[in-house]
Amino acid sequence: MPMSIRPCIGGQVQEIWGIDREALEFILGASRSSHPREFAGVLRAERGVIREVLLLPGTLSSSESAVLRLHMMPIDPSACGSVHSHPSTSPAPSGPDLGLFAKFGRVHLIVAAPYDEGSWRAYDHRGNGVKLKIVENPV
Ligand code: ZN
Repeated sequence: MPMSIRPCIGGQVQEIWGIDREALEFILGASRSSHPREFAGVLRAERGVIREVLLLPGTLSSSESAVLRLHMMPIDPSACGSVHSHPSTSPAPSGPDLGLFAKFGRVHLIVAAPYDEGSWRAYDHRGNGVKLKIVENPV
């Protein structure tokens, strides 16, 4: 599927292997402040590391499903994946989540309550778990 090899920032296909600690802290904080609603955003990466999170409009105020909003989003060619929160304690992807993962991007994060460093998971476009390294102060 061409979607899975869509280029990210830099114009080349990249494997995502890490996440900037600041981006992760931002995601965890946004998930906490959205609770009990879902938080959703789009991930951008540089040189294989997720560095930027673009919030979807309405993310922090709407009770609409975050994943539905991601489905309706126009595909941004610089987007490397998505992130959303689960107000439950399960970070396992739902059916609609898997449909979203297959739609675009290389890596997708799900953050479950209580939104700490141990409650997030990363998945590839098929919904298989992937390991991401937390990168301190990437250059
Ligand atoms: Zn979900």
